[in-house]
Amino acid sequence: EELSTFNNGNTLHYSVFSIEHLLKNIAISFAISLDEEESEIEFSSSIPDSLGKFTGDKIKIEEVLLNLLKNAKEAISDKGSIRLSVSRKNDILSIQVKDNGCGIPSERLESIFEPFKTYKQGGTGLGLSLSKRIIEAHGGSISVTSKEGNGTAFTVKLPI
Ligand code: ADP
Ligand code: MG
Repeated sequence: EELSTFNNGNTLHYSVFSIEHLLKNIAISFAISLDEEESEIEFSSSIPDSLGKFTGDKIKIEEVLLNLLKNAKEAISDKGSIRLSVSRKNDILSIQVKDNGCGIPSERLESIFEPFKTYKQGGTGLGLSLSKRIIEAHGGSISVTSKEGNGTAFTVKLPI
């Protein structure tokens, strides 16, 4: 195990793991939690087999995905859909979380990655800023496209 630090003593704990297994497990747990809540959100995922071995902090990558899925869920008032799709092109893994929820007004798009920036009652505004730091510490990027009233898609790109 190799350690490297990012931002004020926040340590990444690297290991080599199957990113496909991690993503599939996250998808299954998320589907089960929606089921248990009798949610009317339809969740689908597309995760290819044999994505290969990934080197990174498994717990923190999981945290990013959970943040994105949580935000997607919170963007949907009752009925709606969320899709997790994953692809690999050469050595870049793309992970997209797409919802058809409330969307983000264009004037807000730039600020949502800032710490403590929240537009929710009782929100912390920490999910996306932390997620961005984690992804960038892995040499990746996170981006968003959204249309108010239509939905939002976050794309995480990670070198594999
Ligand atoms: P929090 O969820 O605590 O508000 P985040 O950092 O996770 O903090 O998100 C910041 C803001 O970005 C949210 O308050 C919300 O306005 C916006 N946002 C994030 N994800 C979505 C999404 N999927 N759909 C609509 N708005 C979103
Ligand atoms: Mg959040």
